[in-house]
Amino acid sequence: MKGRLREPSVSLLEDAGLGPEVPGERALAFPCRNAPVDVLLVRAADVPEYVQDGVVDCGITGADLVRERGANVTELLRLGFGACTLEAAVPEESPIETLAELAGAAVATSYPHLTRQVLLEREIQCELVDVTGSVEVAPRLGLADAIVDLVSSGSTLRTNGLRSLGALFSSEAVLIAREEGEHATRLAGILRSVVEARQNRYLMLNAPRESLDAICALVPGSRAPSVLPLAEEGMVALHALVPAQDVWMLLPRLEAAGASSILLVPVERMIS
Ligand code: AMP
Repeated sequence: MKGRLREPSVSLLEDAGLGPEVPGERALAFPCRNAPVDVLLVRAADVPEYVQDGVVDCGITGADLVRERGANVTELLRLGFGACTLEAAVPEESPIETLAELAGAAVATSYPHLTRQVLLEREIQCELVDVTGSVEVAPRLGLADAIVDLVSSGSTLRTNGLRSLGALFSSEAVLIAREEGEHATRLAGILRSVVEARQNRYLMLNAPRESLDAICALVPGSRAPSVLPLAEEGMVALHALVPAQDVWMLLPRLEAAGASSILLVPVERMIS
């Protein structure tokens, strides 16, 4: 994992207690603190082969690259970062409006294997034009009618006057291994506890006992909340795990339902 996955990968290892022994070092390989794990930093596109050939026990790379390289590896865990989608796009002025209308079109991509697979799954037959970079200029150069490329913010498409026809594949960083061996399974368990923890927050609040039902109804996604009596008569404290993505809309609703002294804290590990 080099390139755009490098920083978030190293930070995941750090949060899991497996950070580099010498922090901040820009080395291509480093031993971890606290654990007998050696980390090798290589291009994300090379990771599937390294894992498949047994050079390393596990690898972190993009799910798109695992499919593109056709590597014989097992995906152990989705890591919650490096999200992007493989999308088909055409010039703004193109008459093509839907993915199905790509049938028979010339499509430029630097992900030919993955593109062929996902178009075949949708029974769309195109002529693929393999390019190694600057895919987004291919229609302007007259090389293709459309492109298939990775999109994260969408700004590259917009800057190049391209209109998305939709996503063909959703990718994110994944942990892969050749097989579910002892080392790989143990590392996957450690990383899973951090990935799940990052997706949640620990919520603590005080409320009048009569507001409890209304407040519990607002946190239905959480595991059974803990309700503790407070020294103040008629008041209780409620603790619950809530999805991080729901927090922005949850807090005002909790306040409106009578919650006070609301505390929201990050979770470091979750082991179910
Ligand atoms: P954006 O403008 O943020 O949509 O990014 C699109 C550009 O970044 C395209 O040139 C893509 O090829 C490249 N890109 C986006 N996401 C990834 C990714 N996860 N891995 C490699 N390249 C990517």
